[in-house]
Amino acid sequence: MINKFLLETVIYLIEIIKYLMTLLVGKNLLKSISDEPVKKEYRKLQVDDQPIFDVPEKLNYKLLIAEYEFKHGKEFAPVKPRKNKALAPKDVICPKCGAPHTYLYDNNGGRGQYLCKVCDTTFNPKNYYQKSIVLRCPHCSKTLERIKARKDFYVYKCKNDNCSFYQNNLKSMTKSEKQDFKKNPGKFKVRYIFRDFTFDFKPLSKESPVKSMVSFPTILIPFTP
Ligand SMILES: [Zn+2]
Ligand SMILES: [Zn+2]
Repeated sequence: MINKFLLETVIYLIEIIKYLMTLLVGKNLLKSISDEPVKKEYRKLQVDDQPIFDVPEKLNYKLLIAEYEFKHGKEFAPVKPRKNKALAPKDVICPKCGAPHTYLYDNNGGRGQYLCKVCDTTFNPKNYYQKSIVLRCPHCSKTLERIKARKDFYVYKCKNDNCSFYQNNLKSMTKSEKQDFKKNPGKFKVRYIFRDFTFDFKPLSKESPVKSMVSFPTILIPFTP
């Protein structure tokens, strides 16, 4: 029982480390253990490659303004309060071009959404990066589809039929596995899947007075050896 729990914990920690490394360096540093098809009982214990994170392009508001002024031969004016648009608070900066609040409108009456006059981006500073990062399959580069939302994580799946991960898994099945797969497709993990954890890591630390809301066995479904 203890061994099982330790194994699940180690695999869970590997997933977190890989996720954090990907966020830090922007690419996967660890190779996948195997691309073989995995039966459902074991699939929660398989550690996949990390997806490709497409980070949004960064612009420079000073260059954009200079470009505008050169093209139109007139000054690019800061924002003025309009009928339904107030100005953004002083500490808000456009996450895409870095424009200060003097170029930003409050776009929804103080509820956290702003509009940048320089690069025309609508954003909420709290979730701009989360929303604008596109996840791609590490095997075929196609955009992953979000298929499930759980309490602490989202599940993304590559639905590309020509994906090498999917094709290789199909090819490496035995005859009886193929027949089984036709009848029970949910029993095999053949497509690339990524779980994106959304919970706060802080409660997991020993010092924190708040106990973790996450229990490992709920994320890693127990398997029967
Ligand atoms: Zn901007
Ligand atoms: Zn793919």
